[in-house]
Amino acid sequence: MSPKKVIISACLLGENCRYDGKTKINQNILDAYKAWEIIPFCPEAPLFGTPREKINVIREDKSDKIITDKNNRDVTKLLEKEILSFINKRPYVDEIVLKSKSPSCGVGTTPILDKGKNIIDHGDGIAAAIMKKKYLTIDIKDENKV
Ligand code: SF4
Repeated sequence: MSPKKVIISACLLGENCRYDGKTKINQNILDAYKAWEIIPFCPEAPLFGTPREKINVIREDKSDKIITDKNNRDVTKLLEKEILSFINKRPYVDEIVLKSKSPSCGVGTTPILDKGKNIIDHGDGIAAAIMKKKYLTIDIKDENKV
């Protein structure tokens, strides 16, 4: 029987793909899924390189956008396209585990900012939000809920 498949945020697997060039390796997750087929996922690094400018979720007029921290560039559409392209190539997976608090990967834990960069809420990052719509029956977990 082939192993179950899990998508995991690549920085949790030890990849140095965070905006600051570091990793957030999570040994608990590596141990929990060692018998699974692991599919690494990072939408930001292929688009913007590593290291790169930080991004934030900014809420304006009830709509969330992904905006770069210094240059105020709206990268929402670019990320949407990258994430959808990843999902379309992998329609069948059994679970998804994503990095906490990330503007892309956070599952309910991502700080949502107003234009003045004050935290006004916490919610999903852009990848978690899209994955929830596309993988309707799949368990999408925050890294700390594994
Ligand atoms: S949290 Fe997601 S987007 Fe950010 S470095 Fe990790 S895998 Fe990439």
